[in-house]
Amino acid sequence: MDAEIIAVGSELLTPFRQDTNSLYLTDKLNALGIEVRYKTIVGDDRARIAVVVRTALERSRWIIVTGGLGPTEDDLSREVVAEVLGRPLHEDSRIRRRIELRFARVGRAMPPNNLRQAQVPEGAECLENKMGTAPGLWIEQGGAVVILLPGPPRELESVFESQCLTRLELIVPRTILRTRIYKVIGLAESEVDHRIAPLYNSYNNPVTTILATPNGIEIHLRARAADDSAAEALLAELGDKIESEMGESIFSTGGETIEEVVGRHLALRHKTLAVAESCTGGLLSEQLTRVAGSSNYFLGGTVCYSNELKTQLAGVPGGLMAEHGAVSKPVAQALAAGIRRRTGASIGVGITGIAGPAGGSENKPVGLVFIALADELGVQVREFRFPGDRDRVRLHAAMAALEMIRRRLRD
Ligand code: ATP
Ligand code: MG
Repeated sequence: MDAEIIAVGSELLTPFRQDTNSLYLTDKLNALGIEVRYKTIVGDDRARIAVVVRTALERSRWIIVTGGLGPTEDDLSREVVAEVLGRPLHEDSRIRRRIELRFARVGRAMPPNNLRQAQVPEGAECLENKMGTAPGLWIEQGGAVVILLPGPPRELESVFESQCLTRLELIVPRTILRTRIYKVIGLAESEVDHRIAPLYNSYNNPVTTILATPNGIEIHLRARAADDSAAEALLAELGDKIESEMGESIFSTGGETIEEVVGRHLALRHKTLAVAESCTGGLLSEQLTRVAGSSNYFLGGTVCYSNELKTQLAGVPGGLMAEHGAVSKPVAQALAAGIRRRTGASIGVGITGIAGPAGGSENKPVGLVFIALADELGVQVREFRFPGDRDRVRLHAAMAALEMIRRRLRD
């Protein structure tokens, strides 16, 4: 039941245009239980398109060709597919009339090359295109189905939805896909994989993928089954094992971001939060306030980049910075305790570090960040050495702060 998508168009091989049709199609096909195994982008070249179509016929049940159905000389999909399948082209008088009518309606003469679009390979079904002149084509040959769709996304989506979906649903046995996403924080991709590979290796349903994102690692499980409860059971069987292996490192199973999880914990416990940010320059506040309803628990805070403002806004004693440096454990602790005291928040967070690229030294290298959390039980502080450039250090620091809050609230 595997599908293959061939996107035809030389412009798709330049940096200026992207093949988005295949993303749309993959989403729709997956929903029907059809997996896409190959995607090819090929320029408007007769010989190359022919090679790609021939290869697809050898290995795929569903072959969807997008683009190259237009009226111009470089629109070759129809001709090449007809040739590869050994089906001569005939003019379809109904399509011809429809195209002539379209031109008549806008009062324009039809350039003769538009008639190319009325050419139909023998035995093909036409898929009506309400958004344009080129109809799609549906051709069954051997065990395979070749579907040709127009390139412009509006036209492709319209033809697919109005003509292909019902045809596909009739042929494809009904299965559904369910996904579960575990989000993990504080571990590297390889470490996550090392721990869970022995668990997921023995399953091919669900299919497991590990994805590194700027906000942490995600473990995606995709199960295919006849109905919802069967899919859920498959997800639970492997998912429960993964959950107990990863334990605390999993911060979300329902697609929530870490700032949403932190927000939920804060709201649930009627706690408030304030932050004093140095090297993250407000990034933590930005993430916290992305969540709708964050005003219920996030009081605000300060970006105190200079030493003077660390003193003025968060009450960090000047002597402390003179003695230990602005990037130090005691200063992070003073920032957290100071912002908590000044705002009356239940939790105060302080961040100070060296984001780079300059400013590092042997003792205090770029990526060194101290994060402190102050609450009614006292002040805890952690030292981090984050890898990467300035942006990544800042992002890692904000994420680590959110993770410290999450762990504190769970304890
Ligand atoms: P037309 O009748 O408009 O020529 P066509 O079926 O011949 O339609 P193409 O000429 O290949 O299609 O592409 C027309 C336009 O559709 C392209 O300029 C591009 O903007 C868009 N397009 C084509 N293929 C894709 C694709 N795979 N993903 C996104 N857009 C595409
Ligand atoms: Mg074209």
